Amino acid sequence: MERIPQQPLPAAPDAVRAGRRMIDSHGRTILDLRISITDRCNFRCVYCMEPDVRFQPADRLLTPSEIVRMAGIAEGLGVRKIRITGGEPTLHPELEAIIAGIRSTTRVEIAMITNGSLLTRSALAGWKRAGLGRVTISIDSVRADRFARVTRSTATPDDVLAGIDACLAEGLTPLKLNAVLVRGVNDDEAVDLAKLARRFGVEMRFIEYMPLDSAHAWDRTLMVPAAETRAAIEQKFALLPTGADDAHSTARTYRFADGAPGTVGFIAPVSSPFCGACSRLRLTADGFVRPCLFSTTEWGLLPLLRNGASDADIERFLIDVTWTKLSGHQISSPTFTQPARPMSAVGG
Ligand code: SAM
Ligand code: SF4
Repeated sequence: MERIPQQPLPAAPDAVRAGRRMIDSHGRTILDLRISITDRCNFRCVYCMEPDVRFQPADRLLTPSEIVRMAGIAEGLGVRKIRITGGEPTLHPELEAIIAGIRSTTRVEIAMITNGSLLTRSALAGWKRAGLGRVTISIDSVRADRFARVTRSTATPDDVLAGIDACLAEGLTPLKLNAVLVRGVNDDEAVDLAKLARRFGVEMRFIEYMPLDSAHAWDRTLMVPAAETRAAIEQKFALLPTGADDAHSTARTYRFADGAPGTVGFIAPVSSPFCGACSRLRLTADGFVRPCLFSTTEWGLLPLLRNGASDADIERFLIDVTWTKLSGHQISSPTFTQPARPMSAVGG
């Protein structure tokens, strides 16, 4: 994998360091940490991971105790929510221990995002007992042939639908579903996917395809804008704004005018960037902190974690990294450079 050259990390102003909050130079505060616990995945989604992807050696990945330690330090700096992601987090053999470790050392909300192919009721019950609060499941197609083409896996939509049922049965609610529509691949499925919201009484969210694919094949023409997806759904179901979106939310959400259960959400980072309200920081599976999905600079934690740094040293490091967070992603700028690392490595 292409490595990003490390640069010296500039220090945040003393007053910012003293405040013990992760605040960037544009006035935003980090409240939400996304931790990728593995770069491995059993899918190879066309918009994310190439079939010949090379994973990091195990000794380059954060250990469960390092992940738990980072969660505690982040909470001390004001983080309220941790989302466990990947790669595919359910492949991690110590997922339950990681959740339990975060739960026993923090009071943060613990959420997880998964491709939903490996969800059994007993595994979900164990994760819930350990402290998992909420789950988001990705599903890009309800058609078996299409699903295989998008995910390049042997899993089926029925596996994921069973995973959705299992989450609901275990009370891991409110449940959200995510889909990425790619032009010419699954862009005719907006209505069928919206029907999942009505069938399960959950939020079905459509995320615009972002230039974060490991093939670097993204092109604006392949991205289906949120407005187009919404218009397609409205051909079948009238939508009304829920009016419930909070300031840091990435999605604009709508309910069905006919009173059916469920909602649909649109996440439009490309056509209507929401960087101004961003409260997120990302920790990669191999121990880099990234201020933004689109960062072309990332900051290595392993030297600190593995050479005896104190919690105060790591706090200072996180505060300094946050101070470097850029105001926005510039996808629409002619000089935009796609980051070397794909979504699966960054932790979506
Ligand atoms: N494997 C899990 C899953 O698929 O839900 C968690 C990791 S995945 C990287 C997290 C989310 O990122 C998924 O909802 C996926 O659809 C989304 N994603 C991946 N690549 C993307 C891209 N290029 N543009 C937009 N969303 C993307
Ligand atoms: Fe795996 Fe999730 Fe990326 Fe698909 S989107 S390849 S399931 S990490």
